[in-house]
Amino acid sequence: MSDAMERRGPAVEPREIMQEGEAALRITWADGRICLYEAPALRRACPCAQCVNEWTGQRVLKPEAVSDEIQIADIAIVGRYALNFVWSDRHETGIYSFRYLRELCEQQEASGREE
Ligand SMILES: [Zn+2]
Repeated sequence: MSDAMERRGPAVEPREIMQEGEAALRITWADGRICLYEAPALRRACPCAQCVNEWTGQRVLKPEAVSDEIQIADIAIVGRYALNFVWSDRHETGIYSFRYLRELCEQQEASGREE
């Protein structure tokens, strides 16, 4: 996890983290960008060792194993660099670094724009 701190600066510093109801999360970054995350997509992107093979980096979690109805039960800030979610399916081992969250957001936007 040593690369978690690699990218620094306003693009990976959240200014505001807001839960939008039970099933979405909004992060306003220090550089002004606003990212909206839907709970099912965020849960499917869980980076923990149960969801991603640590050695190959391959995703073990099947998208269909996560309900579209999934909700965010709780959010905790880990150190100064990450968020930990507790999901309504009781999964809670994922540590989402701010860098990873920012990447997810940029990927979402990029794929949305291409279509
Ligand atoms: Zn996980």
